[in-house]
Amino acid sequence: MTASPTTVFISGATGFIAQHIITQLLTKGYSVVGSVRSTEKGESLVKIFNNPKFTFEVVKVLEKEGAFDEALKKHSEVTVFLHSASPVTFNAEDNERDILIPAIEGTKYVLKSIKEHAPQITRVVYTSSVVATGTPQEISDPNFNGGETTWGSLTYDQSKENGFAAYFGSKTFAEKAAWNFVETEKPNFTLSTVNPVYVFGPQNYHNGEKELNASAQMVGNILKLKPDDALPQLTGTFIDVRDVAKAHILAFETEKAQGKRFVLSNSRFDAEELVEVITKNIPELKQKLPAAKSTGDRATGRSLLDDSNARSILAIDYISLEQSVTESIKQILGN
Ligand code: NAP
Repeated sequence: MTASPTTVFISGATGFIAQHIITQLLTKGYSVVGSVRSTEKGESLVKIFNNPKFTFEVVKVLEKEGAFDEALKKHSEVTVFLHSASPVTFNAEDNERDILIPAIEGTKYVLKSIKEHAPQITRVVYTSSVVATGTPQEISDPNFNGGETTWGSLTYDQSKENGFAAYFGSKTFAEKAAWNFVETEKPNFTLSTVNPVYVFGPQNYHNGEKELNASAQMVGNILKLKPDDALPQLTGTFIDVRDVAKAHILAFETEKAQGKRFVLSNSRFDAEELVEVITKNIPELKQKLPAAKSTGDRATGRSLLDDSNARSILAIDYISLEQSVTESIKQILGN
């Protein structure tokens, strides 16, 4: 593979997904500038990636006008920007201040900085979410068939009501703001968005001490069950983190991907399937976990979500639930 002269800027470089994107970019020969919230975080990433093509810039606060100006002015070699930084939590002290504002205002300001200070940037990929395509009720309904052409309909006020709604609102309003910016400001860059479902899979680098991010923790939590515990009411749709990383790269590399939303959805899962997969591949856990008794009411297999752009344009051969979950659990166990 020939080395690429392109330099990619990625916000939120410490993130679960971002670290996999950076690893894949470096493997493909790209240079990467990652933004982090502190020098310590940046230095720890430099150690992790151990590659002179990775450097970092400290941007302390997302939701401040001009926050990215200096970093962008310093890096006139950057031609691609991946905006992945956003609060990923359902528990905040103040839903508006801690979840909605950083996501929405942060997205508007970062695009404004790019337009004003980095006119050489021609591609922007925004890490959105499937939660921008429907309401909490719709997204949790296995029969929901919206996706790449639909939007969540919570109002801003409804989004403030609880942490879950705030996360849905944060991604919906931030993604809408990004599309609106492109339409009204006519910047030099094209936009595409990656809208993943629950992201599972191993951490980029194992750090036994570090808390897992919200979605990976769902798989990790299975290990906390005792043999007599009831299986949790857990169901949803999954995609592996390495496929999400691949999608970000294809989203800027592929001409046909410009101006598109990509829902990334592999298959549905429930707690029973997670236990089944884990005990099949790591038999010593069979005695430690509850038995995966069939309830007869399973909602597994391909979801009905509309992910046609992703399937036809990005056309990634997705990593299976079995591989994703097994590798995550083995990493947690230190195997
Ligand atoms: P993560 O590991 O929690 O990463 C979030 C990143 O955003 C971190 O780098 C974090 O920095 C940064 N960040 C959070 N709040 C911030 C703030 N107020 N100001 C500046 N930076 C902030 O989560 P992730 O799963 O990788 O998520 C990355 C992106 O994917 C997010 O946009 C998320 O909405 C989207 N997404 C995730 C999933 C999923 O299931 N995980 C599904 C769909 C979409 P610190 O390390 O300094 O906290």
